[in-house]
Amino acid sequence: MKKENCFYCTKNHELSDLMIKICDFENSTLYLFKDQRYPGRCVLAFHDHREELFELSEEEQKVFFKSLSEIASVLKKIFHADKINYAIYGDLVSHFHVHIVPKKKDGPEWGIPFTDMKEKIYLTDEEYQSRIKLIKSSL
Ligand SMILES: [Zn+2]
Repeated sequence: MKKENCFYCTKNHELSDLMIKICDFENSTLYLFKDQRYPGRCVLAFHDHREELFELSEEEQKVFFKSLSEIASVLKKIFHADKINYAIYGDLVSHFHVHIVPKKKDGPEWGIPFTDMKEKIYLTDEEYQSRIKLIKSSL
């Protein structure tokens, strides 16, 4: 089921202001987060409007986390991350999604949670496209 006031459901400009679609998985969609303060930061969103992990069936969880695992492995490799951070919040945007954030020991916020409150790093359209191409070709 889709929800009218949810940007992951409607895929409106609020979504495209924040992220760019990379590709679809079996029950989810992968996006490149426009703020690339953490190079390779992505979001994996469940394809349907669910708000809590426990609202997904066991099979849906299995499929979702299999995709997440595959993506994380690729991001770790191609962005030379020391650790992938995974974050599930949803206070303001309740649609079930996971932030996938490659972190580096010598990069920003190592050892503490990643943040949206510090300087954002935006790329040019060409840079976004080449980053998306790199991720897609590695999946
Ligand atoms: Zn939704």
